[in-house]
Amino acid sequence: MNRALQIHQRLTDVYGSPTWRNPLPPLDELISTILSQNTNDTNRDRAFDALRARFPSWEAVRDAPEAEVIEAIRPAGLANQKGPRIQAVLRQITAERGDLSLDFLHEYSTEEAQQWLLKFKGVGPKTAAIVLLFALGKPAFPVDTHVHRVTGRLGIRPPKMSADKAHKYLAAQFPPETYYAAHLNIIRLGREICTARKPNCAICPLADLCDYAKNLGKTHES
Ligand code: SF4
Repeated sequence: MNRALQIHQRLTDVYGSPTWRNPLPPLDELISTILSQNTNDTNRDRAFDALRARFPSWEAVRDAPEAEVIEAIRPAGLANQKGPRIQAVLRQITAERGDLSLDFLHEYSTEEAQQWLLKFKGVGPKTAAIVLLFALGKPAFPVDTHVHRVTGRLGIRPPKMSADKAHKYLAAQFPPETYYAAHLNIIRLGREICTARKPNCAICPLADLCDYAKNLGKTHES
């Protein structure tokens, strides 16, 4: 059994099989994920809810004065950047598709849907993978800051590999049916134990599978 699968199974033993918050339609998930860039889940949700409360539809968001959209999404931070970006995405989808829905992506292959999403400014591999995995139920492995850090310490990806490149690499390490739970459980481990500031290897359920912890042991022995 490869190490990624062992890691997944260990985390499932400890954390169980997690579920993502209520699934959103693909377009809503895309907007929510753009809002989530460089902020936490709480601020993302506050901004998303404010946007939905202020405007009756995505068409109304698209056609609203820029300043009003910026004002509504202020809780997410970087509102001056994210507001125009969201409106541009909504306009571009309308121009290409004639309406504001991404449900047609269900019919696309994972690769086609990914390419379609990646062409928007402000939509990178992580945002695309989140929409693919959580809104479209397609096999994609999103690499956020926690997943990037934890997998680097574990040693299941090359140490200097960027988060963008790690999407494809890690997707090949984990079996597709594990992507959903593995992504969420690694994030939980990253928030609770393998934190950015200081990994708490002494209580980590993955210590015997982790390069960082092994090297820590060597340092103490020498
Ligand atoms: S053993 Fe330490 S470095 Fe490795 S995943 Fe656990 S907390 Fe992170």
